[in-house]
Amino acid sequence: MIIQSAALLTSAPDLASSPPSDLPEFAFIGRSNVGKSSMINMLTRVKGLAKVSDTPGKTQLINFFIVNKSWTLVDLPGYGYAKAGRKDRANFCAFVSDYLQNRSNLQATFVLIDSRLTPQKIDLDFLHWMVDSRLPFILLFTKSDKLSRAAAQANIDAFLIRFREISPDAPPVLSSSSKLSHGRPEILEFIATTLAADREALETIS
Ligand code: GDP
Repeated sequence: MIIQSAALLTSAPDLASSPPSDLPEFAFIGRSNVGKSSMINMLTRVKGLAKVSDTPGKTQLINFFIVNKSWTLVDLPGYGYAKAGRKDRANFCAFVSDYLQNRSNLQATFVLIDSRLTPQKIDLDFLHWMVDSRLPFILLFTKSDKLSRAAAQANIDAFLIRFREISPDAPPVLSSSSKLSHGRPEILEFIATTLAADREALETIS
């Protein structure tokens, strides 16, 4: 897929304030600092589209970006920030889970995992919730340039072993580096294939 245009559509504090759900949507989520903003900028090739910040937990909004005037990319607030208060955190969980469970046009969610780390409970807990909620997702490992290929693969393998305790079904797995634009074709191809399948299904119905 070639990205011809990408722009912020709107930011919303909850599902009820989200824009009309008339385009297929793909969400991105992960722990704060996992590299989500860098990923969105790398995918769209629009510098600064999503803010890259070292202050985790600053914005607790759902950001909607319209891409190629045909689908939306959704930037969900990072989970598990240390600085957010307890009240904020509860609220964050509620509005993100509400969005994920009830957004009718959501096709799939990219769950970003830092490939430098051994399996983290916070990521596994979130994925457990995704599996229980029967929501489709892709595991997207980030920052692969920060370690050797073998070390990144060892962390990915360890993560997948832990994931099997949650579900026997292996999810799609992609590895990426926003710094080097690695993984970009595979991520965009995944989205393009899903969009094509969606169009085909609609044509069959009509
Ligand atoms: P977010 O909080 O998940 O949106 O993460 P950011 O995109 O703001 O990235 C957090 C930090 O990791 C920043 O300092 C980025 O420059 C850095 N970073 C993000 N992606 C990569 C990557 O692929 N490679 C490297 N080396 N650093 C990255």
